[in-house]
Amino acid sequence: VFKDVESAPPIQVFQLTKLFLDSTDPNKVNLGVGAYRTEEGKPWVLPVVRAAELQMASDETLNHEYLPVAGLPDFRTAATRILLGQGHKVLAEGKVESFQALGGTGALRLGAAFLKNVMKFSTVYISDPTWENHRGVFQAAGFNDIKLYRYWDNETRGLNFAGMCEDLSNAPANAVVILHGVAHNPTGIDPTREQWRQIAQICKEKNLFVFVDCAYQGFASGSLEEDAWASRYLADQDIDMFVAQSFSKNFGLYNERVGNLVVISKDPKKLTEIRSQMEIQIRVVWSNPPNHGARIVTTVLNNTAFFEEWKGQILTMANRIKKMRQELLDNLKKLGTPGNWDHITKQIGMFSYTGLTEKQVEYLKSKSIYLLSSGRISMCGLTSKNVAYVAKTMDEAIRA
Ligand code: PMP
Repeated sequence: VFKDVESAPPIQVFQLTKLFLDSTDPNKVNLGVGAYRTEEGKPWVLPVVRAAELQMASDETLNHEYLPVAGLPDFRTAATRILLGQGHKVLAEGKVESFQALGGTGALRLGAAFLKNVMKFSTVYISDPTWENHRGVFQAAGFNDIKLYRYWDNETRGLNFAGMCEDLSNAPANAVVILHGVAHNPTGIDPTREQWRQIAQICKEKNLFVFVDCAYQGFASGSLEEDAWASRYLADQDIDMFVAQSFSKNFGLYNERVGNLVVISKDPKKLTEIRSQMEIQIRVVWSNPPNHGARIVTTVLNNTAFFEEWKGQILTMANRIKKMRQELLDNLKKLGTPGNWDHITKQIGMFSYTGLTEKQVEYLKSKSIYLLSSGRISMCGLTSKNVAYVAKTMDEAIRA
């Protein structure tokens, strides 16, 4: 029965990691995967995560029973609190419900399933460009009309705000709009606060369904508050909306799959029905979520000392990324690399959208520097030891 099965195209980011691991070149650099690395180029288990795990390991009241379908209640409450901020109007008014999900991806997929199966929505707008999985997740959930709104302006290496507004203004009512809550992936360019106000206004006037993807809270500025500004502002607008929250990056819990789908309903009375329908969507996919990662996050968020420690460790990660942006820019300037590279330090979050062409990317790959064909690099793959080599190779690729 399998004789007609053909190979699917490789998943680029995982393929890059494999090429990197297989390479025997001592100078190899992985700028593909969006995962934090230390100055030594190693994965980092946050010390606060380790401490929480040790505490959990000796807690004999914990067990491995199924969690409720919607997830660990304390996790959902604490996760939603750091997103919206204690005392946000929608929390005080009882307009918020949340559902533990398998990472940010699971939160997006769950939200998409609800919007398709329960709301019967079928159109979604994603930014051009966007995280490469948005299209697939919405397609898999049954959205058959996937549209792009303009976002990146290659000329200015910045936001095409006029194009974005025009495309959103022309979207039909009940179209779902995915907005990156902070640290846009892949461009590293976010709207300004004034621009967010205009985006919110358009979504409200045109009855678009706002679905915020918030995968990098803390990673852009180092501050949880600052990085949640857009999500909190949108939640303030008296609209129905979803937020997909991920703890993969800010807790370094990539393989534990910790996410939260936050639902805000203008009418708090509808939350009971929403919850029952959402639980059906969960039941048929993963039935109930895993415990370990969500328990770690809850342990940290609900303990004042751990929470303060975590904020410090987020800052460590955010600052190292900023330092690498500066060092890459300094190296390119020193080499006199043709073109203007100031966007590297203007962009925020984990990635830089370098503007390198596919041909230039191929050249870098031939020198064991692995990055996406779009020219996106993960700043975390850079260290003070390899940044000069990366800059020199970029310089060669550009002059070739
Ligand atoms: N959204 C965006 C914009 C992302 O960059 C990512 C992770 N690369 C995700 C969602 C998914 O996060 P998770 O690994 O938690 O599923």
